[in-house]
Amino acid sequence: MDYTLATYKELLITIRAQGYIFQTFEDFITGERSGKTVILRHDVDRIPINALKMARIESEQGISASYFFRVVRHVWNEDIIRKVAGLGHEIAYHYEDLTITKGDYQQAIDHFERQLHRFRRFYPSKTICMHGSPMAKWDNRKLWERYNYRDYGIIAEPYFDVDYSRVFYITDTGRAWNNSGISVRDKVNSGFDIPIESTSHLIRLFHDKQMPGQVMINTHPHRWFDPGLMWCRELVFQNLKNVVKSIIVKANG
Ligand SMILES: [Zn+2]
Repeated sequence: MDYTLATYKELLITIRAQGYIFQTFEDFITGERSGKTVILRHDVDRIPINALKMARIESEQGISASYFFRVVRHVWNEDIIRKVAGLGHEIAYHYEDLTITKGDYQQAIDHFERQLHRFRRFYPSKTICMHGSPMAKWDNRKLWERYNYRDYGIIAEPYFDVDYSRVFYITDTGRAWNNSGISVRDKVNSGFDIPIESTSHLIRLFHDKQMPGQVMINTHPHRWFDPGLMWCRELVFQNLKNVVKSIIVKANG
């Protein structure tokens, strides 16, 4: 079973055992870049409670990660954001202002500025990251063709300010590691060609020292489940199927 929180924890422990240090995206941008570094980036697109679960696992390991939250109603949860920040993680804006304002640039930048203020009540956010919904008509990064995020106290955006010929970018988009056939906008010009078959394969690659010195791992917390919950759902579903089957069998008998 892949994409479980237990597997995620095992990944973190393996990475640490190989001598990597974990940095938030902000720390990576502002800090010393020597040594082996892993940046844990989380795009919180849905089910924010899962972000809190991941945040707790990292915090138990003494790790700080970067959480980019969308501001749409089903994601924006101040209680969860406050708790994730309280665990020592970076909190920042997963922006989609052009989508929200249907391509109106003036409204989009005003919206962007207002959201930034909301985030900064919980954390002094200095980075941002675009939400790249493949179904959306607008590429939210285009906002920066007319405006400059540095005017808003933002020092970095992962799609513009990271040299991916040196930092290996890994994403779980589409429930498959670095599946370029699935991700429409979550893509970078990578300097690496390292196929990853599964999370356990990724763990093996770290364990066998097959990974570069600088890695950004982007995970979407809503893809990562507690096996207990999944197991229960599967059990209920299976029982239901069996009931239906027995009805069909009786009807035919
Ligand atoms: Zn997203």
